[in-house]
Amino acid sequence: MKRRQIAILGSTGSIGTQALQVIEEHPDLYEVYCLTANNRVELLAEQARRYHPAAVVIANDARYDELRLLLADLPDVKVYAGADALCQIVEAEPIDMVLTAMVGFAGLRPTIHAIKAGKRIALANKETLVVAGELILQLAQQYHVDILPVDSEHSAIFQSLVGEDQNAIDKILLTASGGPFRLLTTEQMARVTKADALRHPTWDMGAKITIDSATMMNKGFEVIEAKWLFGVDAHQIEVLVHPQSIVHSAVQFQDGSVKAQLGVPDMRLPIQYALSFPRRLTLSGERLDLFAAQKLEFFKPDLEKFRCLALAFEAIKAGGNMPCIMNAANEVVNRAFLEDRCSFPQMADVIAATMQRATFSATPDYDVYVETDAEARRIATSLLNSKS
Ligand code: NAD
Ligand code: MG
Repeated sequence: MKRRQIAILGSTGSIGTQALQVIEEHPDLYEVYCLTANNRVELLAEQARRYHPAAVVIANDARYDELRLLLADLPDVKVYAGADALCQIVEAEPIDMVLTAMVGFAGLRPTIHAIKAGKRIALANKETLVVAGELILQLAQQYHVDILPVDSEHSAIFQSLVGEDQNAIDKILLTASGGPFRLLTTEQMARVTKADALRHPTWDMGAKITIDSATMMNKGFEVIEAKWLFGVDAHQIEVLVHPQSIVHSAVQFQDGSVKAQLGVPDMRLPIQYALSFPRRLTLSGERLDLFAAQKLEFFKPDLEKFRCLALAFEAIKAGGNMPCIMNAANEVVNRAFLEDRCSFPQMADVIAATMQRATFSATPDYDVYVETDAEARRIATSLLNSKS
C-alpha cells in the first residue's frame, strides 16, 4: 500500500515532535513529506536528517542561510523560507494530509491553502478555528476536505461520535484540568509568575498554550473550537473542571446516554487517531489503570476567577470577528506575560478592553480577519504600554 504523505507545520514544537514519534512507530503507513519551523533551525535540520522529507521550510527568512548550510550535504531535501513558502508547500501534489501544529493566527493562511488544495487536515492549531471557524468549515465543505481534531478534548468528542451520524448531540461535556492555579484565591493569582504558570499539572505542552491553560483562555478557545467542529451552540457545551485529565471529554445524546473517551494524558493518542481515522493502530506507552487512578473529580469552573473563560463566552455571543479580536489581544498579552511585561490579572484586563475598542464586524471575510488581527494587536499593545 502506498504510504500516506504527511506535511507537518510546526514540526519542532510539542505537537510536531510527538507527531514524528507516532509516524516513526508506523513507517509502513506514513512518510514525512515536509517539515516546517519558525526559528529552530538546528532541530529542523536534525529532523530532516532523520526523516528525509522532500522539503523543509523555515518561516523566519533570516534563518534561511543557516538552514541551507546545515543541510548542504542533503541535496534531495529542498529548503525554503518565509510565510509564503508555507502556503505553497502545503499545496504540493504528493501530500495527503497536513498536520497544523504551529501556534497562533499565523496558522490560518497555510490552513486555508491546504484546504483549497484538497488536503485532509489534522488540526492542532486551534487559533485557526477560534479566529475563522465559520470560514474554515465552509471551505472544508466546499473542497470536500475532512478536518480531524488533534486537541485531546475534541478528539474525545469525535471518538464518542463515531457511529452516531444520525443522532443529534444534546450536550457536549468539555473537560478541563483547571491548570496550576485552580485552588488559588484571586489575591494569590495576582502574584503568580510565569514560572508558576508554566508548571502545568497534567500536560507537557508548548509555552503559549500552557499560559492559556493557566488563564483558562485555552478552555474558552476549545468551546469555540467545539462549536464549529461539531455544529452545536455554545449553550450546549458545558465546561467541567476535571483535575485528573483522565476523562478527555464526553457527549450526551437525546436519550440521556453519555459517551466519553478516557485514557492517560498522552497527546500521541489523539495525534495518531487524527492520522489513522477511522482505523486504530497500536501505540506504545502506558495504559489506563482505573484501579490506580484514585478518584475522578468534576467541578464547575469559576468564571470570576478565570475571567478569560468568561470573555470567551462573551466573544461567542457577540459572534462576527469578536473571537478574532479576543485571540489577537490574547496573543499579545500571552507573549508579554512570558516576557515579564504583563502581570497575570492584567492579561484579562487588556483582552477585555481590546474587545471593547476594536472595530466590530458581524460578517467578516478573510481580509476582515487580517485587518482585525492587526488592529486588535495594535490596541492591546498600546494598552499594555500605557499601563506599565
Ligand atoms: P510549540 O510552541 O511547542 O510549537 C510550535 C511550533 O510552531 C514550532 O515548531 C514553531 O517553530 C512553529 N511556529 C511558531 N510560530 C510560527 C510562525 N509564526 N510561523 C511558522 N511556524 C511557527 O506549540 P505546541 O504546544 O506544539 O502547540 C501547537 C498548536 O497545537 C497550538 O495551536 C496549540 O494550541 C495546539 N495544541 C497543542 C497541544 C499540546 O499538547 N502541546 C494540545 C492541544 C492543542
Ligand atoms: Mg485541549
